[in-house]
Amino acid sequence: MDKKQAEELKEKLFQKKENGWKLKTQEEKQQIFEYARGYIDYMNKSKTEREIISNSQKIAEEHGFQNIETCQNLKVGDKVYYNNRGKSMYLAVIGKQSMENGVNIIGAHADSPRLDLKPNPLYEDGEFAYLKTHYYGGIKKYQWTTIPLSIHGVIVKTNGEKITINIGEDPQDPIFTITDLLPHLAQDQMKKKLAEAIDGEDLNLLVGSIPFDADVPEKVKLNILSILNEKYGITENDLLSSEIELVPAMPCRSMGLDNSMVAGYGQDDKICVYTSLTALMNIENPEKTAICIISDKEEIGSMGNTGMESHVFDYFMSEILNKQGINTPNLLEKVYCHSKMLSADVDAGLDPIYANVSEKNNASFLGRGIGLNKYTGARGKSGASDANAEFVAEVRNIFETNNICYQISELGKVDVGGGGTIAYILANKGMDVIDCGVPVLSMHSPYEVTSKFDLYEAYRGYETFWKNA
Ligand code: MN
Ligand code: MN
Repeated sequence: MDKKQAEELKEKLFQKKENGWKLKTQEEKQQIFEYARGYIDYMNKSKTEREIISNSQKIAEEHGFQNIETCQNLKVGDKVYYNNRGKSMYLAVIGKQSMENGVNIIGAHADSPRLDLKPNPLYEDGEFAYLKTHYYGGIKKYQWTTIPLSIHGVIVKTNGEKITINIGEDPQDPIFTITDLLPHLAQDQMKKKLAEAIDGEDLNLLVGSIPFDADVPEKVKLNILSILNEKYGITENDLLSSEIELVPAMPCRSMGLDNSMVAGYGQDDKICVYTSLTALMNIENPEKTAICIISDKEEIGSMGNTGMESHVFDYFMSEILNKQGINTPNLLEKVYCHSKMLSADVDAGLDPIYANVSEKNNASFLGRGIGLNKYTGARGKSGASDANAEFVAEVRNIFETNNICYQISELGKVDVGGGGTIAYILANKGMDVIDCGVPVLSMHSPYEVTSKFDLYEAYRGYETFWKNA
């Protein structure tokens, strides 16, 4: 065989792993950049799960979705949502086929790693006022000091009145920060392991330094409480029933001299929320009922009534069957066993600076399209939901037929670490599930990086799945 023939054979037999940007025309690149602008705008309005749900509900309502609790009956083409306590949400577009044949689900999560305030957060020390925090999810604590932080959340009074807080995003607002030791005096700290250099109990937010004008103890704390009382009508006790999150005050921005990337907080997993939600808005009268999940608490194990482990999703699905007038005992289990799902969560992109944690043949790369993980888990796939080869083939077929750039990978080298998503929870109900999301650099940091190419392929990929699975 001569060289030319061998090259042809290679072209035919080898898997092509190439940078997707090369395949796009100038016009298509403009579409990608345009879509990324909408994403960046959404991200800048939605830094917490509550903000994601409220903004996503607005988008859904603008596209004709109705609260399922206000609907009497459902028929083909109807669009409904269920808002679960303002922190998670399920949406559906009713399909032409009976749900007995299964539904097509795409599920992402709206919560991201952050610092939560403790129930008794406010104290004074050394004439400074501080708020104590308890970190949420897997963070590298040193990354959260000396960066601008904003305060988001709700305070609920005993009479039920809910006060929504958002300070630090408007350029006119003050921001907050957690201080760190100067290098001149950090000899001991610098010798510690990275994981131990910053103590969890030292992640205290600096919020004030002016003493109240009176001769009483804790004057700086009193001044802060007096400001909060004037602004929100609350006392220290009201903080007991609050959910306040500290998130990076840096805006989500276009990144790179070529504008090819997005840098921003919380892209795990809001990038999959935005891409799946906007894809769902394009679905009209689908063959099979299209379901979109925006879940909460994924970063801390999906427990509780807004997490994916809760039965609220089953309730939503039962209500769809009830309101179509087709529900029978155990029908929901049948629906699940015939359903298919993309668990839309981000993947670790290969970072050339830290390439030694990835195995290049089985890593996701930024710019090569939507990333599928057949399984996650750690140490011998422990805890993994391992997608069946038959289902992987089906998803491959859908993506290949519709020219969606995809890559199938693992999260890091064997025994280096691992992770999980909501995939196993739905797979345990009997459906076919595979993880399918966007590769990210600096995952779980205050400033995560993604490729606009992958963002757009995820959007196209999700729409294609709902239309063809
Ligand atoms: Mn995630
Ligand atoms: Mn995560």
